[in-house]
Amino acid sequence: MQLHYPLLIIGGGPIGMTCAIEAQRKNIPYLVIEKGCLVNSLYHYPVNMTFFSTSDRLEIGNVPFVSNNPKPTRNEALEYYRRVAQSFDLNIQLFEEVKQIDRTKTSNGRPSFEVTTSKAAYRCQYVIIATGFYDIPYLLNVPGEQLPKVTHYYSDPHFYAFQKVMVVGAMNSAVDAALETYRKGAQVTMVIKGDTIGSRVKYWVKPDIENRIKEGSIKAYFNATIKEIRPDEVDIETPDGLVTLKNDWVIAATGYQPNLTFLEETGVELSADEVRCPTINAETHETNVPGVYLAGVICGGMNTHRLFIENSRVHATSIIHDISQKMSSV
Ligand code: FAD
Repeated sequence: MQLHYPLLIIGGGPIGMTCAIEAQRKNIPYLVIEKGCLVNSLYHYPVNMTFFSTSDRLEIGNVPFVSNNPKPTRNEALEYYRRVAQSFDLNIQLFEEVKQIDRTKTSNGRPSFEVTTSKAAYRCQYVIIATGFYDIPYLLNVPGEQLPKVTHYYSDPHFYAFQKVMVVGAMNSAVDAALETYRKGAQVTMVIKGDTIGSRVKYWVKPDIENRIKEGSIKAYFNATIKEIRPDEVDIETPDGLVTLKNDWVIAATGYQPNLTFLEETGVELSADEVRCPTINAETHETNVPGVYLAGVICGGMNTHRLFIENSRVHATSIIHDISQKMSSV
């Protein structure tokens, strides 16, 4: 049996939740479908992670986010978004993945979609895609990357105590992983493609990593790349030639990309350049597929540094305003 909702929201992250709150305020029946737990991306962030935004900038639905410090931790954010979902009694279906969105014929000119998930099929008039960018890591594409000692999702430093750890990357995630594991007793080596630590690394963390490298507590190979990973060793290509190091674990903090194939399969056009920016109306966020909207970080295509929680919360207001107007005009 097909379930029917006027509006389906795909993704139960902060922005999908904001869309749900706005829909509720406009009395638009909706369902949020989330493939993992609530705010699944945030749940998979490192356990000790601190946001670069202050808590007020992560607030949704005008609910105050009270945090012990100006910049909240991951655990505080999980607590906050869960309490928001509870207090608004949001209609969210968890652990159900949307696989496909098909346009169906309309009898009265209104858009209509069939949405197939891992558990059910739905029919709806409007779809908001708020699927973020955290599901597909950039791979190193080297032999040995599939070994169980390699992770693209660093979580807890305690695990790495007294181990030989290689951290690949030089941005915030890499730097946090290197400093945290070093401070839990790991012997840390960083492998960095460029010749410096990333310029976007949090300003209060950058001197820390630079000084640890300078004093030799953390070894860093600049202008270097991994060539091969084996169970006990890693080969790195450096300006001085190939270096082989003893190694227990590799943390590949090489970033993530949004699932743009899913958008293309839905009919959303992407720009031909490397950013592959989805085609959306700047005001309403409706895509070239009438009735399909994009919200949150996914709107930036491959440029995942332009939109965050703090500057994409506003998408919900314009999207729901547009849907509400369309619904009342028919
Ligand atoms: P997400 O939070 O990624 O939510 C998307 C959801 O969609 C996920 O829960 C996912 O499981 C779900 N999903 C995906 N595909 C499907 C599918 N097919 N079916 C069903 N569900 C699906 N931003 C800030 O503003 N401030 C910060 O301080 C900050 N710090 C960050 C620190 C780190 C380490 C990282 C990685 C990011 C940080 N960001 C920060 C960025 C911010 O977390 C993202 O921009 C934000 O999560 C975007 O929200 P979203 O709802 O668009 O996407």
